[in-house]
Amino acid sequence: MDIDLETLSSAPDAAIVAIGACTFATDGSTLAARRVFRQAVHPDTSQKAGGRIDALTVVWWMGQSTEARQAWTLAPARSIQSALQQFALWCLPEFDGERVRVWGNGAGFDNVILRGAYDRCEVSPPWRHQDDRCYRTLKNLRPDIAYEQTGTAHEAADDAVSQALHAERIFAAMKGA
Ligand SMILES: [Mg+2]
Repeated sequence: MDIDLETLSSAPDAAIVAIGACTFATDGSTLAARRVFRQAVHPDTSQKAGGRIDALTVVWWMGQSTEARQAWTLAPARSIQSALQQFALWCLPEFDGERVRVWGNGAGFDNVILRGAYDRCEVSPPWRHQDDRCYRTLKNLRPDIAYEQTGTAHEAADDAVSQALHAERIFAAMKGA
């Protein structure tokens, strides 16, 4: 599955404001039943749980689209602790007897930030560190296969869906090569 976080910093301990995830196939096929996770997070609960807020990231958010900002400022939100538990529950069917890899955009971004939040909130992360994978590395291997944004850019679930579909196209091309 691909995960995508929206945060208030780009540091490893960034405060999370939204969690998105989308399943995808890595065997060259197209997933028939795709599952999507979408959850806004109360920023104050992320901050109180040790999440970092950087002024430059806040300024960056001020320059993003209304849709992207409102996706986490106005959407029904959970506390970070509750959101982490919800995401772990959502993951359960994916991890049923299988080792599912968790792909983030950057070796030091989504996976690191999400795992750090799980650790600080003392909630068990739903995936093993051996199953961390990097979508940014994958897409750099095939710059000939274009990324197509589905929905709103910088909306966690829409980004996760877009990245999952892109990764699926890259795997299909690699299997056919
Ligand atoms: Mg995003």
